[in-house]
Amino acid sequence: MQDRPRLHVHPDAALLQANASVPMREDQAHYLGAVLRRGAGDAVRLFNQRDGEWEASIGQLHKRGRGDFLLSHQVRPSCDEGGPVLLFAPLKRDATDLVVRMATELGVRAIRPVLTERTNTGRVNLDRLRAIATEAAEQCERLSVPDLLEPVRLPDLLGGWPPDAPIWAAIERSAAVGGPTALGAALLIGPEGGFTPHELDLLRSRPFVAAVSLGGRILRADTAVAAGLACLQAGRERWGLVPEGAASL
Ligand code: SAM
Repeated sequence: MQDRPRLHVHPDAALLQANASVPMREDQAHYLGAVLRRGAGDAVRLFNQRDGEWEASIGQLHKRGRGDFLLSHQVRPSCDEGGPVLLFAPLKRDATDLVVRMATELGVRAIRPVLTERTNTGRVNLDRLRAIATEAAEQCERLSVPDLLEPVRLPDLLGGWPPDAPIWAAIERSAAVGGPTALGAALLIGPEGGFTPHELDLLRSRPFVAAVSLGGRILRADTAVAAGLACLQAGRERWGLVPEGAASL
């Protein structure tokens, strides 16, 4: 992390504006005081997507996790960072944590766990994942923290999906080659065991779902998340629209 700690303030907690005093969360007070050994007067940056990024300093910092920040001036205006939605079958705890961290760094606007027939864990601790996403957003200098959405079963996801928003389903050994690029797209990554034949049929039946190959090698699911999102990002920045060969399932 840069010399000046960068901390997210939830928009519901305070309005970031000149000369405001913003209460410190308990975990922030612990991090600044006990971990970084910072104290009153030390510089920090506070941010969120609604209010942008602000130069600030530590006002008071007490033991027992209390304190506040004093805001100075805005250093970055708010903006809509956009980004794709990541749909992924939850993995074991460490791998899921890694997926959330990488997806945040790679610019997703929302993350939705999707329960598939071969998903090997039904338990997802969204609060824990939100904390991981917040820390990643602080570190990677984005303004927003991706929304962590409630898990949904694959058929229900497809049933309620807006038909004009493409889902790029990463399917190993699929014929489609290349990366998805449409703005507002979602990337779907399956579980370690892959999608079942029944789920592949379900995906094929939806016109808004297109297969995407991430190459000739079979990637672990967490690697596939990083590779797929990197393709999306590169495609958006360099390739323009949908590449040739991205065949519909
Ligand atoms: N068990 C499956 C098999 O051996 O055929 C492999 C599943 S893979 C470990 C987990 C997920 O990563 C897949 O469901 C898919 O979404 C994605 N994935 C992995 N490699 C991929 C590739 N080369 N192209 C597209 N998707 C891939």
